[in-house]
Amino acid sequence: MGSGAPRGQGQEVRLPRGASLSDFADRIGANPGSLVQEMFNLGEMVTATQSCTDETLQLLGEHLGFDVKIVSPEDEDREILARFDIDLDAEINEERLVSRPPVVTVMGHVDHGKTKLLDAIRSSNVVEGEAGGITQHIGAYQVHVEHEGEDRAITFIDTPGHEAFTAMRARGAQATDIVVLVVAADDGVMPQTIEALNHAQAAEVPIVVAVNKIDKEGANPDKVRQQLTEYGLVAEEYGGDTMFVNISAKSRINIEGLLEAVILTADASLDLRAPLDGPAQGIAIEAHLDRGRGPVATVLVQKGTLNIGDSIVAGRAYGRVRAMLDDNMRPMETAVPSQPVLVLGLTAVPGAGDTFLAADDDRTARQIAEQRQARRRAAEMAMSGRRRSLEDLFSELKEGEKTSLNLILKGDGSGSVEALEDALVKLEVSDEVTLRIIHRGVGSVTQDDVNLASASDAIIIGFNVRAEGRTKDLAQREGVEIRYYTVIYQAIEEIESALKGMLKPEFEEVELGSAEVREVFRSSRFGSIAGCMVRSGLIRRNGKARLIRDGVVVADNLTVVGLRRFTEDATEVREGFECGINLGNYNDIQVGDVIDTFEMREKPRA
Ligand code: GDP
Repeated sequence: MGSGAPRGQGQEVRLPRGASLSDFADRIGANPGSLVQEMFNLGEMVTATQSCTDETLQLLGEHLGFDVKIVSPEDEDREILARFDIDLDAEINEERLVSRPPVVTVMGHVDHGKTKLLDAIRSSNVVEGEAGGITQHIGAYQVHVEHEGEDRAITFIDTPGHEAFTAMRARGAQATDIVVLVVAADDGVMPQTIEALNHAQAAEVPIVVAVNKIDKEGANPDKVRQQLTEYGLVAEEYGGDTMFVNISAKSRINIEGLLEAVILTADASLDLRAPLDGPAQGIAIEAHLDRGRGPVATVLVQKGTLNIGDSIVAGRAYGRVRAMLDDNMRPMETAVPSQPVLVLGLTAVPGAGDTFLAADDDRTARQIAEQRQARRRAAEMAMSGRRRSLEDLFSELKEGEKTSLNLILKGDGSGSVEALEDALVKLEVSDEVTLRIIHRGVGSVTQDDVNLASASDAIIIGFNVRAEGRTKDLAQREGVEIRYYTVIYQAIEEIESALKGMLKPEFEEVELGSAEVREVFRSSRFGSIAGCMVRSGLIRRNGKARLIRDGVVVADNLTVVGLRRFTEDATEVREGFECGINLGNYNDIQVGDVIDTFEMREKPRA
């Protein structure tokens, strides 16, 4: 059929991720309708404005004789900036570089003292006579210490927890130079300690260990040192190169020692330099809408100097710096590398982890923001399912590319996680593919795991645990694959097949819906009946089900034997309605449990 689309002879066509056939048509001077027709001939129904997957664009390109290059969001941003003659990666002349303070994130297990430590560091450093300044958490602060007769500054990001750290890294922005890992000496190494450590190591950020709560009875700081040896963090006094510092955040013991260790670690292992001159660049750490002041953003300057009056663009927000405040709410005129400042004057609220930069003028800033907005809209439409899946790995292997499979393991107990990890690392792997387990932990799949997976292009394995609510949404948005298993050998078999390039998942689980147990009735005839509210999707009689308690699968392989609406039997009950569910012989149901139902469907092979 002569559809009239032009033919190429291998010319390159650059398309942004998520481009539509219209965009494609634009680039090659074709009528969008003709491309719709071509796609139709290739067996796919695609409308002209619908955003396409990478594969669709490439398939069409190949068919028409064009060499389609899909441009990643980062590349694209570089291209947008290049239109304005801005090159963030430009080589900087050595002579322009001056040393800058380290930027530190505090991480560790819950209740080990992160917040207390951040408070202790901050208040140890309130400058005499300036106590009148209102201290406010702006997301980061800077302190000064004297080291070998010199005044040295350290910047702390004070949004404790790993979320900020991984969320930023997931967006390709790394703000942290050093991680302070807080471990309570009376509690020792705990799951989130390991999680934090894994995050830091994955980002290749050096760690200083703060052994906290040494004032407490039963504190055993040496045990912490010993425990962490197993994870590759060996204390200097044991011949390793990690600094461990005993402190008490609450009793304010040895906070200076910790700050000194941060400086020493920075000096020993990092080359922290940045240009002082030139337009400012950096990263937005936190931002919100203030009722009186409009959008306010805390930004961390990474290069150059930020001045009042500068036109800036932060992610998709832009504006002119109307005022700047430091962490003591004192007005500032300029901000230099590693300095966090609260910026007023943006027209919108940027996202945490967005990069910011000073532009030549308001117009440039606005245009960059607008182009980013347009790009974002297109990308969002094509987002789902864009990341690597086991299937992709399989096809990469088929094409003979050298590749690695990154995994995050979450399970219901440390025993099962270890067993799974042991078995996985022992798998016979060919030369083409390496398997890396970048994080493992006990408990349900969290947003943090998804962020880490997204940043590291990893697949999450949930062994007897699930992802819930917002985490599930995030995974879907980020296109992170989560695979669930309840039997170890099945997990191993599938990963092994994938590694060998023989993945053949014939059936896949399709989620139908989930219901929350509100009440449990005991009936002598039916056993337990769960009075439920359907939270998402639908519940279907005879559907397969599993029972989840606190994010952990407590029973699998169940069947919805009975389903009722009030006193009537029902075949289906939808989201937002109440129902009674009977799981046959299974009776261990408690209020607050979640019943997930699903169906097995045959999966078409790509
Ligand atoms: P986070 O969850 O890691 O931020 O922990 P917090 O900073 O909230 O601290 C948890 C609890 O431990 C609080 O009750 C603190 O008062 C206490 N705590 C923190 N540091 C110390 C310490 O050095 N000694 C003692 N005895 N208690 C501490």
